[in-house]
Amino acid sequence: MTIAGKIFLKKGKEISIERKHPWIFSGAIQKTEGALTDGCWVEVADYKNTTLGFGHYQNGSIAVRMLSFGKEYPSADFWKEKLTKALTLRRAVNLPSPATNAFRLIHGEGDGTPGLIIDYYDGAIVMQAHSVGMHNDQTELSTAIQEVFGMDLKCIYYKSQSTLPGKEHSRQDEYIFGLGGVPHVINEYGNKFYVDWEDGQKTGFFLDQRENRKLLGEFSPGRRVLNTFCYTGGFSIYAMNSNAQLVHSVDASEKAIATTRKNIELNGFDDKTHSCFAEDTFAFLKDKHGQYDLIILDPPAFAKHRDARHQAVRGYQRLNTEAMRVIGPGGILFTFSCSQVVDRQLFYDTIVSSAIQAGRQIKVLQHLSQPADHPVSIFHPEGEYLKGLVLYIE
Ligand code: SAH
Repeated sequence: MTIAGKIFLKKGKEISIERKHPWIFSGAIQKTEGALTDGCWVEVADYKNTTLGFGHYQNGSIAVRMLSFGKEYPSADFWKEKLTKALTLRRAVNLPSPATNAFRLIHGEGDGTPGLIIDYYDGAIVMQAHSVGMHNDQTELSTAIQEVFGMDLKCIYYKSQSTLPGKEHSRQDEYIFGLGGVPHVINEYGNKFYVDWEDGQKTGFFLDQRENRKLLGEFSPGRRVLNTFCYTGGFSIYAMNSNAQLVHSVDASEKAIATTRKNIELNGFDDKTHSCFAEDTFAFLKDKHGQYDLIILDPPAFAKHRDARHQAVRGYQRLNTEAMRVIGPGGILFTFSCSQVVDRQLFYDTIVSSAIQAGRQIKVLQHLSQPADHPVSIFHPEGEYLKGLVLYIE
């Protein structure tokens, strides 16, 4: 690890770093020393020149992403230690297990590694850099992953083309270790899924809904289930495997629907009890009164930035109102938001407003979140992004 320079914070700006918040905003910097380039490692000191920690520098609003706190220099085994710690946490929550062989190994700030996502799919690793620092460290990261997993590692696919800032860092998504093969079959609580990290969205699969899909299975027996924004059919497969009366899957993307079909087949089902619709969810819901008694709403992030929040809230409100109107009496609604800028309270308030508009009697049964392999650092509450509610509609 080469430390390229040093950053001195303005007086008072050390407090958030002492509380282990991982971001230093550019406005907090008093002066810099050394030739700092995007993605380099820097030492961070307070105004009295006391070392606070080390991190990746990047020109922008978040100027430093902290990777270690305290005076100790990052050792040669820095990445290996980070990965080992992350794996220890996953093992503590029984991942992997005989029934589940796919999980998130590194979840950005939640694992003390801002800018890095690593997903594990039964021996295959998909690594995604969201910061230039992580992009620069990819070779060291790849070596550390190989050391940690040894012979069990099949491949590492580096997929950062769409997540890195600026074109100058652009680079083809590619295998940086081993030979891949997609689609790759994974198991999640005994449900089987094809994962295609080369062609699929994000790293190929939405691992963050695992526990919520499992819970959905418990509500599914005998019910007529509508899974909107289904992507690869995650919730649909759980509903089918839990003896739902029928399952309909809707996604605007033809490609997503094609994968859902393949996953239905992979789990031994056919078109008799399951149907796919490559349609817009809002349009689909319009004429479906009383046809379903369990509806899942898991839309993509309607807002990625603060300035889009108002529009996003209106989107969530309209979508939920529509679903609450059409669902049959005694129906269950699983509703989610993965927009980071829409916090739990705002999401809840939006759903209350949908309930008022829909004019139905509604009870909150459960509050849902992201699973244990998507941990939130207690010092970085911004890391909580997935919110959900299970509602009972009388
Ligand atoms: N529930 C899924 C993940 C959903 S990702 C799972 O458990 O894996 C969001 C999906 O919404 C994407 O597949 C995207 O194609 C789809 N989508 C986006 N806008 C849509 C719309 N208006 N109507 C239907 N699907 C839409």
